[in-house]
This record gives sequence, structure tokens and C-alpha cells, in this order.
Amino acid sequence: MQDYLKGLNEPQREAATHINGPLMIVAGAGSGKTKVLTTRIAHLMANGIDAFNILALTFTNKAAAEMKERVEKILGNNEARNLYIGTFHSVFARILRAEAPRIGYPNNFTIYDTDDSRSVIKTVVNELNLDDKLYKPNVVHNRISSAKNALVGPDEYANDYYLQQEDMRANRPALAQVYKAYQVRCFKNGAMDFDDLLFKMYELLRDFPEVLHKYQHKFKYILIDEYQDTNPVQYQITKLLAAVNENICVVGDDAQSIYSFRGATIENILQFQQDYDDVKVIKLEQNYRSTQSILNVANEVIKNNKGQLPKSLWTENAHGEKIKLVRTMTDNDEGKYVADTIQEQKLRNHYHNKHFAILYRTNAQSRSYEESLRRMGIAYRIFGGISFYQRKEIKDFISYLRVIVNTRDEEALKRIINYPIRGIGKTSVEKIVIFANDQNITFWDVLTRASEFGFKAGTLEAIQNFVTMIRYFQSMLEQKNAYDVAVQVGKHTNFVKELFNDKSTEGLARYENVQELLNSIKEFTESPDNEDGEVGDKTLGAYLQQITLLTDADEKDENADVVKLMTIHAAKGLEFPVVFVGGLEETLFPNAMSINTREELEEERRLFYVAVTRAEKHLFLTYANARYRFGSLTQNEPSRFLDELPETFLDRTYAGGGARNQTSNMGSAFARMHRGFEGNTQFSNASRQAPKSKTSALPTGLTSKPPQTVQHIPSKDFVPSDTTNLQE
Ligand code: ATP
Ligand code: MG
Repeated sequence: MQDYLKGLNEPQREAATHINGPLMIVAGAGSGKTKVLTTRIAHLMANGIDAFNILALTFTNKAAAEMKERVEKILGNNEARNLYIGTFHSVFARILRAEAPRIGYPNNFTIYDTDDSRSVIKTVVNELNLDDKLYKPNVVHNRISSAKNALVGPDEYANDYYLQQEDMRANRPALAQVYKAYQVRCFKNGAMDFDDLLFKMYELLRDFPEVLHKYQHKFKYILIDEYQDTNPVQYQITKLLAAVNENICVVGDDAQSIYSFRGATIENILQFQQDYDDVKVIKLEQNYRSTQSILNVANEVIKNNKGQLPKSLWTENAHGEKIKLVRTMTDNDEGKYVADTIQEQKLRNHYHNKHFAILYRTNAQSRSYEESLRRMGIAYRIFGGISFYQRKEIKDFISYLRVIVNTRDEEALKRIINYPIRGIGKTSVEKIVIFANDQNITFWDVLTRASEFGFKAGTLEAIQNFVTMIRYFQSMLEQKNAYDVAVQVGKHTNFVKELFNDKSTEGLARYENVQELLNSIKEFTESPDNEDGEVGDKTLGAYLQQITLLTDADEKDENADVVKLMTIHAAKGLEFPVVFVGGLEETLFPNAMSINTREELEEERRLFYVAVTRAEKHLFLTYANARYRFGSLTQNEPSRFLDELPETFLDRTYAGGGARNQTSNMGSAFARMHRGFEGNTQFSNASRQAPKSKTSALPTGLTSKPPQTVQHIPSKDFVPSDTTNLQE
């Protein structure tokens, strides 16, 4: 066994060796909170506590896997595989699998992702004859999601005066009805959405004392990382679970609370001391991650928040270079500057691609970086955004697998019933839905009893063949692992052949993607242990659960030598030698949608704090004078956060549009607008007083993007979605 306490500072050691009773560690970024949590798990186990009795909740599955690995290394055995460790969602999904029948769900329930949820909402909105322009799926979904995260079920929702008033004002008086219908439909489909994994878990513990008792005694020790971002439902669940033993350890940083839009609240941190008697509170103040320069900036930033527990971080690390603050003409110049700098840093400091991270406020910002990185031949990967599993061909293929595991899954059935084409057209599908609703049976039930419903002979035969095929796949479930079943699906459905025969570039890409999917299923079945902690479960059901619960930062191939691009939200808890934070402009960061109240603005500032504190050695802050957003060029002032940084900490640079850059096309217009700017490395104050986010009056033809010459790389797909979500 390693001497795992060696090298810890005094408060870290005190925290790691605390065994019984509630413990809270509130500390700034990079002070070793996660390290202490990991060490404490090892310490508990070294002191005879059974891994089976430890529950650890992390922010990503990857963090869980890493913790497990480290504990294994410390202890020199593989006991760590018996820990219950993972994200709230993956751990609760696992428990719900075991307990689902108590609440009327099958053990093999499907987990609906956001797309599936929106599709179900669309269906029920239509069925209720409501206006789908008022009841937009994403809006309705957000509303339902917030309700669940605040522990408000459909009935409570319908009876809540304030919620009703809000919906009336928004012209959506039937929202409660949609919520109810949505829940009923998901239930009928044997499906839970992401929020249900928390909400149903809560209901299960609340309504079944024997279940509560069982898990209270199983999880004798509970540890939670990033506690500042737990939302009310997560909070209630852990409170219930910890109620008997009170061995709960939470670590967090109020300055890094960045999920209030999902209902997370730093109140939890403040509440913790009230919830338990004799809470031991430990503060960590030494930062081990960043240079002194970076830390200075971080401390300055967060000082401006009023609602923050005061704390200050120090480090013994080297002072390091000043923070680079870089102004560019446009977002394209910003992209180019970043790519050039990466190239330069690689040569100068012997860094590899994997040492760089580019962080941004909204997913749509990745485009300009991507273009420049591609042009320079620098390998990169986008984490989050449109993930591999959201692609059509992948979702279609996975829908087969979902149906095989759970035939009640109507969303999946609808995707594949006529793909590849087998003569069950749109009208037939509509009929099936109507029959199912009329008779109150499932979509699948209609298929299995198709002869009763008067389909045309051709359709009937197609349906019956489809049912036979799915049953054939199901017959393999018992003996075969996920990969073997998937291969049979690819073959017998003609799915793979169909894609193979499509010789277009897109067709080829789709074919390759499905091959890639099959490879990943193979990898899953061959790995000794899967990420959700279920030892040796190589079934299709286990596979599906794992992929549905991947988080943004979980994408595979952690060690690949690629530059990492992600939103700041996805970067929480991570660290990188060189960090670029882009788009530091008013309306973008702080985001225009989040500056209406002090609370919102402070959350944006915390987000900036999170971004800055990801950096170990070098930090670059960049902003552009003008940027394409929502299809037109907009001008922005530099972010107010930049004004908060003392000049002495900064090394300002101007990296304007080069001759070969697209921006040179706009040279004259811009030169006029920004006379005196070009080549100037300092700013005049006047430049900062430009009107906020004004769409510039450029000559026509420059108001939309020039055609991109960059080759489309399918695995780096990108859809601009500036308006939608900041982290999905
Ligand atoms: P965040 O708030 O960003 O989640 P954190 O408080 O969880 O940060 P860690 O990620 O645990 O911090 O630690 C930051 C870095 O400092 C890691 O690389 C970790 O290995 C290192 N570190 C922490 N404590 C020590 C120590 N006592 N000695 C050496 N390195 C340490
Ligand atoms: Mg951490």
C-alpha cells in the first residue's frame, strides 16, 4: 500500500483521515478538494470499511473512473471496483434498475435523452391539440425539467398557484396538462428521462421505507464532489440517504457554483451546517494547480462578487508569465491567433496538443477555432456540443438496440419501424399510434396484434416480419453479449448494407460512424469493468445505460493527443497546462441572457473564475471587436470582467486581421469604424464606449458568412446553437 498521506498538507490530511461524522470542505479552485476526496476513500478502505458501503458522487463519469483507478493504485488491490461511484445520474440509474418494478417501471427501462424527451413532448402537444408554436418542445421541456429538479411532480404543478400564473402569463395555460401527459407517455413507454433518474429516485426513497432503509444501511459513507452544484432533488436524496449514519462528506467551492439555471443552489453549502450536528468544517487555501500570476487574476475576479464566502488562495508555485490579454478584429482572427499560438507554444515550450484547452461560453463559438485548427493541421476534439451519439445514423442504430431491450420504447420504435424502408409508411405509423391510444395499449402491442386492426395485406406482412425479426434478436439476449447482438442487428436489418451502398461522402461518413459504433460496443464487451461500476455486465442493457449517461467531459480517448475544446461548464474540475478563454465580450460573456439581475451576473463571474482557474501554466484571454452571431456581424465592447483585472497582471496584445484572412475583405469598412485601432497595442477609452452589440452596417454581401472552404470532417460536427443552451 502506498503512503497516501505523504505530501498532503495539514488540513488536507485532517480531511482525508476523518472517518465518522459529517464533514464539509469548502475551498477554492485547485486546492486539492477532489484529491482529498479520493484519498479519503482510500483511507476509509484501508481502515476496514467495505467498498460496498461507500457511495461517491462525482461530476463526470470520467472523474469517477479516475478516482477508482487512483484508489486501486493506492491500495494495490482491485477492491475499488466494488465502490458505488459515478455521477448522480449513473448511480441512481443503477439503483433504479434494481428497484424499478416497485414504481411500475420495467427493470430494463429506457433512458430518454433530451432529443427523445422533446420528441415525446411534440407528440403529446399534438395529441392535446395545442399550438406547437406556443408549446415549443424545448421550452416545455425546460419547464418540466425545472419542475422535477425542484421536486414538483405533475399534480403538485397543476395545483401550484404561482406556476399556474406564470404559465398563464406566458400564454401556456395547459402546461400542467402537457407535463402530466408527458409523464404518462414516458411511463407507458417504459422510459425515464434524465430528470426522472433523480426525481423517481427521490420518490422511491420517500414512498418506500424499506427501500430507504436498505440504502441507508448500504451506503454507510457518502462522499460528494462539487457539492455547490447539487440541485434540490439531489440534495434531498443525499439527505435521506445520510440520515441514519450521518457519515457524509461534501466538498465544494461556492465561488464555482455555475448551475443555478438547472436549479443548483449554493444554499446547500450554507445549509449543510444546519442539517447535521457537529459538522467538521475544513478550509483549504493552498493552491497546487496554477502559477501565482494566474491565481492573482482569479482572486481579483472573484473579489467583485458580493455574495461569496470570503477566502483567498495562495500558492508556492512559480510566479509564471503574466496573463496574456489579446484583442483581435474578428472572431476569425481570434481563432487564427489561438491556432498560431498553440503552434508557437508547442515549439517553444515543448507542449503537445493535449496540453491545450480552448474554453468558451457557448457551443457556437467553437466554429472559428475549428477552422483555424484545421487549417494548421492541429488535431482537436470538441467535448460536448453535438455528440457522436446524437447523429441520425447512430440514433437509428441504437434505437434497434433499445427496442430489443424494451419493446415499450415508442420513440425508438417510431425511428426504426420503417428504416431501412420496409413498406410501413407514415400513414400506417399514425394508425398504429391511434390504435394504441384508443385501446390503451403500447405501440408494440399493436404491432404484435396487427392482424386485428385491418391493415392492408402488404403492410400487415411487413409488420409481422418486423415483429419476428425483433423477437429473433431478443432471443439472443440471454446468451449473447452486447456486441454479438449488435452485429446481428447490423446484418439482419440490412442497416449496414444500406449505408454501405450509399456512395456519397455523407453516406460513407455514416457507414464509418456505424462501424465506429460497433467498435465501441466491442470495446465495451471486452473491457474488464464498465464505467458505471456494474462488474462484468456486458449485456445490451448495461451498454445502453452507459452510453446514455455519458456527460460532456466523458468522451473517450482521454489520452489522445488533441487540443480540447469545450464550454466552461464542461470544464469544471479539470486542469490544463495552457488555457485559452475566448469571446470575452459584453453580451457573450457575460452573456446577454444573464445580466438582468445581480445574481445572474455573479454567476457569470463565477463562470469566469472557473475558466481562469483551469489553467496551470499559461492563460490567454481573448476577445474580438466584431463577431458573427446569429448570422450577422455584431460589434461588442470588451467584457466588463476584463475591467476588473489590474493592469499590472496583464500583458496586452493586439492580433488583428492578417492579409490572408477573411477579415481583410472588410478592411475598409472596419478601418473607418475603428480608425486608430489597427496596430495599436493599447486601447483608448473611447473604443470601449462603442454601443453594445450593435449590428454593424456593412455593405451587403458581408452580412452573412463567406462560404467555408474547409473540408467537412464528420466526427467534428457542429451546429450553431447560440441561443439554446449553454451546456447540454
Ligand atoms: P477544483 O476546484 O478545480 O475542482 P480541486 O480543489 O478539486 O480543484 P484538485 O483537482 O484535487 O483540486 O487538485 C488540483 C491539483 O493540485 C491536482 O493536480 C492535484 O494533484 C494537485 N494537488 C493537490 N493537493 C496536492 C498536494 N498536497 N501536493 C501536490 N499536489 C497536489
Ligand atoms: Mg475538484
